[in-house]
Amino acid sequence: MTKKADSDLVRRQNRHLVLEALRFAGKAPRIELGRLTGLSLATITSITTQLLNEKLLVEDSDSGQVPFKRGRPSVDLRLNPEAALVMAMKISIDKFELALTGYSGNRVAHEIRTEPTYNLPADEAARRASRFILDFLKAQNLEPARIHKIGIAVQGAVESGIGHLMWSPAFKAQDIPLVEPIKRLTGITCELANDANMIAEGLMAREHYQYKGTTAVIFTGYGVGMGLVIDGKTYHGATGAAAEFGHMNHIPHGALCRCGRAGCLEAYASDYGILRHAEGLPDSVPPPLNAVEPSVMAALETAARRGDKNALGAYQNAGEAIGYGLARMIAILNPDRIMISGPGLKAFDLIEPSIMTAIAEGVVPALRSKLKIETMPMDHDMIMSGTLDKLLHELDREVFSRADH
Ligand SMILES: [Zn+2]
Repeated sequence: MTKKADSDLVRRQNRHLVLEALRFAGKAPRIELGRLTGLSLATITSITTQLLNEKLLVEDSDSGQVPFKRGRPSVDLRLNPEAALVMAMKISIDKFELALTGYSGNRVAHEIRTEPTYNLPADEAARRASRFILDFLKAQNLEPARIHKIGIAVQGAVESGIGHLMWSPAFKAQDIPLVEPIKRLTGITCELANDANMIAEGLMAREHYQYKGTTAVIFTGYGVGMGLVIDGKTYHGATGAAAEFGHMNHIPHGALCRCGRAGCLEAYASDYGILRHAEGLPDSVPPPLNAVEPSVMAALETAARRGDKNALGAYQNAGEAIGYGLARMIAILNPDRIMISGPGLKAFDLIEPSIMTAIAEGVVPALRSKLKIETMPMDHDMIMSGTLDKLLHELDREVFSRADH
């Protein structure tokens, strides 16, 4: 490697360290940036001067004192919200959701549009999504060219590589092209991911770039999903469809799943699977098209806590399905942490004992001795904020850490 290339690489790494430190801290004076990044004050001064000139950073006018001279080490610096704009789109049953943020992570706008998704033909989904994106930007008085990228998160199996949604409970149609037609119709670059992966991205962003471990984030509720972080990076697999935890087989030829197959883990552990079992319905009864009402699940939880045998049995069954699924995953990946989240967490006390029993039965002790199992309350916005966090981190790492961006 030449000396020039070498120093370019160092500078790029240092710029990335400064951008990430500010993304995590919100704002910090140069001295604090030195402490956070381990770089000398001279290096920090040189890099921040360049980043200020490129308008990627701004001096914080709320620092309490008006700077007499630009570059004073005690003045707070922050990411410039105007440096870039990114958008997140969530597509779920009968609902399109959009959010727009500036480079500093500041939320600019948010809107939900009702769209009857289920019967939309495959080629109509991208048209409806594009129309919503263009209307949304028009209302914000923004040209599409101002948007760096849109991240689209959908429940179901995606092929990120080709940008197609292969299967989703939101659509009857399968193999729905999204990325290419949305890009063509709006002029904005976009990418497609599974919603559980975006929850994992959001979690990783919150924990900062220091997390280098392996975590499986399990989502339970209207479906069962997984976001997989291996050695600090979200794992997407060959086509972007990795970690389809909910559609791993639990019992061959078993209960009917929303994906159309029989015996998936989700068919036992999601809301509809638990309800079907508690009501004593046969496993062959097709899952409902829409999500089970939260009030119905709340009533079932109450019944179980009062000792209703059918309700208790259904939750025990759900915990067993999740626990054996986790045991298989643990045996393959040896993760250091499992994080369980989603609306299904409300009934965690009812499913936890059978999850633990199944893991203890299914995995040798050496593999689970250091394993931490934690829960994380679902914040409604986690899929949207995770999608936005991913795009912002990508800007820090891939785009703005280069001096020639
Ligand atoms: Zn399935």
